[in-house]
Amino acid sequence: MKLYCKKCNYQLTVMELQQANPDQANMDDQAPIIGSGLYINAPEIEIHFETPIDFLVNIKSVNLQNHKDSTRLYGCCGPGDLSVLNQVYPNCSAEIGVIVADCWLPHFIGISAGAVSKEPLW
Ligand SMILES: [Zn+2]
Repeated sequence: MKLYCKKCNYQLTVMELQQANPDQANMDDQAPIIGSGLYINAPEIEIHFETPIDFLVNIKSVNLQNHKDSTRLYGCCGPGDLSVLNQVYPNCSAEIGVIVADCWLPHFIGISAGAVSKEPLW
């Protein structure tokens, strides 16, 4: 799949992403949860978000940047808050997802399906 920002219609995935099975996820602390070019459906993984998160991707698979509100990037030794959106699209600052890069979870970006489209909108 490719993902487009619902606000500005630009493509935020930097490559085509193929769905991976949940048993391909690396659940070790600090490991990339999945390789670049793949995604996992978040409900299939034992990580409990307190904000709607639908797809988990490798940090290298999407073009996003940190939210300017640095309180959304709290964690132990890296961002690890599962209740906020802290990744924005650089063009329009739409809140797209959450980066998790702390010591107590695998590393990934979680994407909120409500912020993105799988097809260009216009
Ligand atoms: Zn946008």
